[in-house]
Amino acid sequence: MSGAKHMARTAKAAVYDAPRAPFVLKEYPLRPVRSNEALVKVTMSTICRSDIHSYEGHRPNPCPGILGHEIIGIIDQLGSDIKKDMRGDPLKVGDRITWSEYFFHGDCYYRDVHDMPQKCQGVRKYGHDLAEEDPHFLGGFAEYCYILPGTWILKLPDALSDEEATPINCGVATMVSVTEAAEIQMGDTVVVQGLGLLGLYGCAMAKARGARLVIGVDAVESRLAIAKNFGADHTLNAKKLSSADTVKAVRDLCQPDGADAVIEVCGEPSVVPQGLDMLRVGGRYVLGGLVSPGANVTIDANVIVKKWIQLRGIHNYHPRHLIQALDFVMANRDRFPFKSIVDSKFPLKDVAEAFRKASERTVLRAAIVP
Ligand SMILES: [Zn+2]
Repeated sequence: MSGAKHMARTAKAAVYDAPRAPFVLKEYPLRPVRSNEALVKVTMSTICRSDIHSYEGHRPNPCPGILGHEIIGIIDQLGSDIKKDMRGDPLKVGDRITWSEYFFHGDCYYRDVHDMPQKCQGVRKYGHDLAEEDPHFLGGFAEYCYILPGTWILKLPDALSDEEATPINCGVATMVSVTEAAEIQMGDTVVVQGLGLLGLYGCAMAKARGARLVIGVDAVESRLAIAKNFGADHTLNAKKLSSADTVKAVRDLCQPDGADAVIEVCGEPSVVPQGLDMLRVGGRYVLGGLVSPGANVTIDANVIVKKWIQLRGIHNYHPRHLIQALDFVMANRDRFPFKSIVDSKFPLKDVAEAFRKASERTVLRAAIVP
């Protein structure tokens, strides 16, 4: 029986038992997929900042667990109910795919009434489940990953490299959501606070959405030069400039009265007052990086009122943003060097070293290639 043959299969995963505990390679059984599931052989998985937050215990995550949600892979088994991807392209075993970092199956007030499936109560995310429970493989740092019902699957074009494709389902799609919320118009001046992967894509998307001037701010000098390749016209080193001088530099560049939009993707709450001061009257401010609890900061709310500032928080993304993220990368891969963002690769057994380097920010985006 082929079923019995499948039952005998096992695969490896990098499991951590508690925050900061060493990663251990463990074997779990692979079971045949149910009709509404898929099994993917992971080809690449990148370490997102939120994986590091989970690993370091800054946000709750079930343990023992398999981290990783920026994943791509090749369909190994496909349930009989899954015939097409979210765009309607037929799916078959052997196709290379990406999929939404979150999934939800069932009744959902936010999805059905407010068109916010990403905020369904009880929404689950890949890389956030117990490794010991069926189907074991629900994270990226493993040889396989199950795709469960309520996930949006998207076929990847052959032309796209793994390095370009892997960050699409978290970092890139999130930035489509953030830059959409910032309502960037042709001719706008845009400030991006934080030039990690999110910020680099933020600069590129701001330009692609028609911004005339993009200013990137970061405290890591090497990232300033990289940002110039991703559409930043000017960069400011937040470590070398005082807060007041950073604001002044932005306002000098954004005549006549400050930036049209500011995007926060640095995860540092203390930059919020600066962002408010950089904006013109009627400016838009989108916070996307403050994803961990306790991001307390004191602001003068009178600035928001007096300057008519639109302040928005964005978390996760709508399924449409996943399609837009893929199409943005495909359409702009000659203009911006997306491939260079994934600047280091590690085998599964070296996941600890990859986490260390990503945590120290000595690499931009570390990839695990199982
Ligand atoms: Zn992520």
